[in-house]
Amino acid sequence: MAVVTGGSRGIGAAVCRELARAGATVAVNYRSNADLASGIADEIGGIAVEGDVGDPASAKAIVERVESELGDVDILVNNAGVTRDTLIARMSDEEWREVMSTNLDGAFHMSRAVARKMLKRRSGAIVNMTSFVGLHGNPGQTNYAATKAGIIGFTKALAKELGGRGVRVNAVAPGYIETELTTVLSDEIRDFLLSATPMGRLGSPDDVAVAVRFLCSDEAGYVTGAVLLVDGGLGM
Ligand code: NDP
Repeated sequence: MAVVTGGSRGIGAAVCRELARAGATVAVNYRSNADLASGIADEIGGIAVEGDVGDPASAKAIVERVESELGDVDILVNNAGVTRDTLIARMSDEEWREVMSTNLDGAFHMSRAVARKMLKRRSGAIVNMTSFVGLHGNPGQTNYAATKAGIIGFTKALAKELGGRGVRVNAVAPGYIETELTTVLSDEIRDFLLSATPMGRLGSPDDVAVAVRFLCSDEAGYVTGAVLLVDGGLGM
């Protein structure tokens, strides 16, 4: 059974579909878009689970609910993410904290909630969504870049912590992917990112989803602590 945080749309929805195609039963977590999440869950024969991953009690409740309805969590994809872009001189405490809460605290809360049982079963796969921005930075995204760089350190530390007991932890670093998260970018930034992408096109959520599926699969049985760039060459 797989839990995908932020599975209601964008990359998360594509990951839910891809994992279901590969045979997993999928719990589609969302924060506010109940209709979208239920639509995905119905389509793939999974369940939609409301919950804010940034809230420790809510994250715990997500895991308890999916375990009681679907059984053991074999796969966790920490995909939920938000942006609150602005230059640092104008950034409010709230804009900083909102991004930390979902992107970084969320991965911690959810991983902690599944780790003990994965260790006990001596199997499991966790995939964390980082970004090329976490590797290279981006003006106007100090909050977001800090969380995505943090996710890389978190992934490597957790991979070292859990590897001896058969639990793998990896990260995927997408480049510029066409979702609601990137529709807010100006034409100028869009053109710049496109020109810096050797493949010369934006990525699709499916481009990312197949990489996540690979890292969750037995084929990746000797892969842990990796950061897999799925970015058309943008972040190399
Ligand atoms: P979207 O904005 O399209 O979707 C975000 C998803 O996260 C939604 O399902 C949303 O739920 C959910 N979500 C947001 N906050 C919370 C929360 N606190 N608790 C639970 N769920 C939450 O984003 P993308 O698909 O574009 O991005 C997915 C991931 O990929 C993010 O981590 C992002 O940083 C990363 N990424 C994206 C890139 C891109 O170019 N798009 C590039 C690099 C990385 P709801 O629908 O209910 O609001």
